Amino acid sequence: MRVATGALSHETSTFTPVPTTRESYEARQGFLRGDEILTHFRGANTPIGGFIAGADAHGFELIPTICAEPHPSGPTPRALFDEILDELLDGIAAAGAIDGVLLELHGAMVAEGVDDGEGHILEAVRRLVGPAVPIVAQLDIHSNISHRMVAIADVLIGRETYPEVDMAARGRECADVLQRILGEGLRPEMALCQLPMAWGMNQVTAHPPMRQAIEYLHQIEARPGIVCASIATCFPLADIPDMGASVYVVADCDRALAQACADELGAWIFERRADWQLAMPTTADLLPAAAAAGSHPVIFADRNDNTGGGSPGDSTGMLQAFLEADLEDACVLYIVDPEVIAICQAAGVGAVLDLDVGGKSSPLQGAPCRMRAEVVALSDGAFRYDGPM
Ligand SMILES: [Zn+2]
Repeated sequence: MRVATGALSHETSTFTPVPTTRESYEARQGFLRGDEILTHFRGANTPIGGFIAGADAHGFELIPTICAEPHPSGPTPRALFDEILDELLDGIAAAGAIDGVLLELHGAMVAEGVDDGEGHILEAVRRLVGPAVPIVAQLDIHSNISHRMVAIADVLIGRETYPEVDMAARGRECADVLQRILGEGLRPEMALCQLPMAWGMNQVTAHPPMRQAIEYLHQIEARPGIVCASIATCFPLADIPDMGASVYVVADCDRALAQACADELGAWIFERRADWQLAMPTTADLLPAAAAAGSHPVIFADRNDNTGGGSPGDSTGMLQAFLEADLEDACVLYIVDPEVIAICQAAGVGAVLDLDVGGKSSPLQGAPCRMRAEVVALSDGAFRYDGPM
């Protein structure tokens, strides 16, 4: 079997001032093309790593196209989006006669004038390959799933762990389902239950109640006729009509069964809608509790300036609270400020400088922090992830 594969994946915040440019598509792991995609991801815990493992197991010939995965940031400019999508389509077209398509998409991509990025991508791929070639896609857990996506794709499979350590496992599952379609006559029917709910922070799958939600999901997947099922906790930083949590289920040749299961789990999640939210205290509120904890380190997360969700990363709120509390032996993990970094790099390690740090990308990020600082270390900032993700 000949299977075209590729990735066009971006988590888009429609609220951030961080632009998405051609350079953004090169910055993360490079804009990969052709065989370098297979070399890069073989054995990696990523969706394409899972596609490759599945292809090896089932004897698929994988034909790689493009892998375009910028860091989370703002909407992709329309001309750039069209250009990259055209390159994906050209790659699939150049593959010639194919039996299937395995795609890595995010589920929360927005381009200028395209609110439903994945619906748009899937529609273009469907137009190219025709109705008979199955399209199976692996999605993030933070997806905003549209009816259009579910109508066009044959199978969508979302991640079911948070942190998302099951990327390769879900990619492998996509390849396994494609094998069942191509080799065993599986006829997938997919249904969606959209929930009028933005999921809060309570989504770590090792903890209740998220653990119960995933157990329920597995119980549904074990039912006769069910092929796979997914929960999308949504990506709330997107001002688009389809923003929201959802459940989507695939059944063999039985759309009504898929819909009934999606609605059942959807209702269970919505009944517990208050449970998915967590209190959001301020840094100043938390400092006394941290001091009273008696053991260290105590770690605070500034979820509202999460660069992993497209934020600029130069909020000074936490730094300011630490300075005002006169903390010693405290550390703020990052303040994204290229201007200050350039000054520090020019001055070198050991220099003592008066600096205005952070707070430059938007008035929402707080005012720059005035400080006298010593440069204790410098690096180019390039690093490689370690650990299960
Ligand atoms: Zn995610």
